[in-house]
Amino acid sequence: MKKIRLRYAPSPTGYLHIGGARTALFNYLFAKANHGKFIVRIEDTDYNREIKDGEKNQLDGLRWMGIEIDETTDNPGHYGPYKQSERLDIYNKYIDQLLEKGVAYKCYCSPEELASSREKQLKAGIISPKYDEKCWNSRNTKIAIDPKIIPSIRVHLPKNHDFTWVDGVRGEITINSKDVGDWIIKKSNDIPTYNFAVVIDDHLMEISHVMRGEEHISNTPKQLHLFDVFGWKHPEFVHLTIITNDEGKKLSKRDEETLQFIHLFKENGFLPIAIFNFLALLGWSPKTTQEIFNKKELIKKFNLEGLSHAPSMFNYDKLLWTNNYFIKRLNPKELFTFLNPFVKDLELSDEIKRQIFHVFQPQLREGREIKTLIKTFTDEFKATPKLKTEALKSLSLLKDFEEVLKQINQWERSMLKTQIMDLGKKHNVRGKELFFPLRIALTGINHGPDLGSIMEIFGKEKTMKRLKEFINA
Ligand code: GLU
Repeated sequence: MKKIRLRYAPSPTGYLHIGGARTALFNYLFAKANHGKFIVRIEDTDYNREIKDGEKNQLDGLRWMGIEIDETTDNPGHYGPYKQSERLDIYNKYIDQLLEKGVAYKCYCSPEELASSREKQLKAGIISPKYDEKCWNSRNTKIAIDPKIIPSIRVHLPKNHDFTWVDGVRGEITINSKDVGDWIIKKSNDIPTYNFAVVIDDHLMEISHVMRGEEHISNTPKQLHLFDVFGWKHPEFVHLTIITNDEGKKLSKRDEETLQFIHLFKENGFLPIAIFNFLALLGWSPKTTQEIFNKKELIKKFNLEGLSHAPSMFNYDKLLWTNNYFIKRLNPKELFTFLNPFVKDLELSDEIKRQIFHVFQPQLREGREIKTLIKTFTDEFKATPKLKTEALKSLSLLKDFEEVLKQINQWERSMLKTQIMDLGKKHNVRGKELFFPLRIALTGINHGPDLGSIMEIFGKEKTMKRLKEFINA
């Protein structure tokens, strides 16, 4: 049986982005669903655009999400090196073969010449200008060449040739060679281009399926041509549809920063399983209405048939909902480990923090929300004058509340709740009329977890003090 090997091939020119993370995840899920390997190859031939910690950020982000990488730069298998800058000798060997075969040729055209040819074609109404094949046409002519000029290497395409493949998402796709044009496989700086290196690597690494963003559809004929000329079988191609923002436009760097990078999701308090679950359903569907899966289930169910043919909208609210779903299911120990980093500088005992985390657990959509919510317990409250005046309209209720609380010795949330309900009955108020004045008096704000829990965490002394000060202010 054919080995199943998939790769995610980021360029370290940026951090792990939501789109890249989704591509990596689909590659991983498909590999694992078929008992195959998941590989991360670093495509770092664009030195000028590289960022310092790009590679580390990509690998860390994937691992944080729960994606295990079978082979990569820091965990090599038998197909290395896994970084293109360390494979230049390999590429050169294959470039020489193409030159020998007469399929590739040296191009001495200067950037100015190329620009002027482009210009001419545009003026002639050609929408997408191609290389005019000057150096191909003169390849057998002896002309004096300035030895200082280092040529680039181009590959020649057959005329009017249809490149056809059956795409895993779109079915049959055909692109004609006239829409591609002779293209550069090695730049004059001696570095091979992406479209060349990717073919050599996918072949040598025995990649069975190439799953990537649909922006690479136009590159596929170039790659198919190279597979053909080397006489290699090409991998299956699967081009994923784009992710859009809520206006239906391709998600771009201009969208809010938090929508972009995996390390920011981590910093803001998203759980890796929430991101994993959410991204798995962004452009793939199990064809059921189930919304929540664990990793094992996703691996078991993932298939190419479920890939979406339409763009997928990035729905931030759904992500928050998913994150809340998983936060609610953390056990007390996990919850503490997850939330404590957000409030580690606060002078509260771990025990009090545990209680506070528990109180807010059902409502948290992002971990960082705890930083604001915990202020109910740490800051001196400041009700706005408007809220204060409003609450003081129920002065007799508040005074009676103070009397009732004085009598309570068993300071515990359910007992406190019962007392509040009894107080309501006595004063013939309920709902907002009952809770609003009490909340404002105790916390200064008109929402939050249930009052019994808040009072239990405050303790009797602090609760009484706040109430007294509010009434007497
Ligand atoms: N380095 C390419 C990119 O980041 C990979 C494309 C591919 O998967 O072939 O878009």
